[in-house]
Amino acid sequence: MSVVASSARARRTAAITIIGAGIMGATLAYQLARRGLREVVVLERQTVASGSIGRATGGLRQQFADELDIIFAREGRHFYRQFIAEMQAQARPAALLPPPFYQYGYLFLVSDAERWRAMQSYVALQQRLGVPSELLTPAQVVARWPGLRLLADDLYGASFCPTDGYTDPAAMTQALLAEARRQGIALYEHCPVVAIRTRRGRVWAVETPQGRFLTPLVINATGAYAALTARLVGITDLPVYPLRRQLYLCEAVTGLPPELPMVVEQASGFHFRWRDGNLLLGLPHQPTPEEQAASLALAPEAFELRLDPSVWPQIQRVIARRFPALVGLHLRQAWAGLYEMTPDEHPVLGPTEVEGFLCACGFSGHGLMHAPLAAQLLIEYVTTGKSSPLDIEQFSLRRFREGRLLPVTRLL
Ligand SMILES: Cc1cc2nc3c(=O)[nH]c(=O)nc-3n(C[C@H](O)[C@H](O)[C@H](O)COP(=O)(O)OP(=O)(O)OC[C@H]3O[C@@H](n4cnc5c(N)ncnc54)[C@H](O)[C@@H]3O)c2cc1C
Repeated sequence: MSVVASSARARRTAAITIIGAGIMGATLAYQLARRGLREVVVLERQTVASGSIGRATGGLRQQFADELDIIFAREGRHFYRQFIAEMQAQARPAALLPPPFYQYGYLFLVSDAERWRAMQSYVALQQRLGVPSELLTPAQVVARWPGLRLLADDLYGASFCPTDGYTDPAAMTQALLAEARRQGIALYEHCPVVAIRTRRGRVWAVETPQGRFLTPLVINATGAYAALTARLVGITDLPVYPLRRQLYLCEAVTGLPPELPMVVEQASGFHFRWRDGNLLLGLPHQPTPEEQAASLALAPEAFELRLDPSVWPQIQRVIARRFPALVGLHLRQAWAGLYEMTPDEHPVLGPTEVEGFLCACGFSGHGLMHAPLAAQLLIEYVTTGKSSPLDIEQFSLRRFREGRLLPVTRLL
């Protein structure tokens, strides 16, 4: 097992220890470094972006149905654009630049009256919060993206936001951590945290196979594994559980527009976009009651990344009735990854009853979009005891214990 102690000063003490080098750990490390807080280590049990973020679609959409999600996503998009612009302005070698943000929009196709009424109110809310989404008629969709060859007869309309888009989520995570390391933050890969030491209710160290790290403050950024990490300090009720999702990479078909938005059929959740000259496709599927029970129990099988063979035929059926341009796609690769769900589908952020053990997890499938603002709120809380533009208290672990779940309205 190799130590990848990546700052010049590999250290065994840290003011802040981040567990997990996914997008949450990366945005935290980067933002801490930018604020001059560099006595920080990131401990990753495998390699950077080896968790959910390395398996994600990479979508950055601001079209949500509730205020909190819209604000998180709006700020997340802004953060990535700024990060990309800053790195480009510093004329870094191409290999060290973040991946592009493909700002081609997100297009939601709506095919029933009730959803259409709801979508109109969501777009109004998005617009009130500064997101330039718009409603389109089926004829406008067909005219704007003729190459899609959409079967639109039964559509009520669509919503489109031109400032949404997508990026390479693993490459973005790597770029953020590379910059954080350049500014002095230490990263240890192949370094699982296996125990967290506390004394009189306070954290003082974490243990790894690479040795002990002395630290008064630990941030749990371990994605779908966050509840297991919390058990290391005796917190047994962090409600973050895994939900399996699958993606399919297919050979491109001709005729689709090069600036294809992320196209989403709202009723089925089927979605697709370009990825490196191929098409990336996904379709959310419901877990069986047995799978759901295994997830809630954090059973080992709930973390397995096996593929459910029933999903690909379902995708074929959606394609046949809606997207003739995609008929006959040649499948190159498929994989599964884990969402990290909470009961109200909002993250868990901030302190716990164990002093020095903080949560930054539970993004419920929206971590790429939502991690930048989550990192900002957490850092403000740690450094000033307050946070803005959102009060971090509402995302506390306590809310679940006290039955104060946050409102959420699903768009999909
Ligand atoms: C198929 C799929 C599609 C998705 N599409 C999107 C999308 O389009 N847009 C979007 O915003 N989100 C999307 N997501 C969700 C997104 O990937 C997650 O919300 C995000 O990755 C959460 O980030 P994280 O850093 O909290 O967790 P992760 O990315 O999972 O990172 C956690 C890290 O912690 C490490 N770790 C765990 N335990 C330990 C330990 N004990 N010690 C040390 N390290 C540990 C893991 O190895 C991992 O690297 C998608 C997810 C999937 C599966």
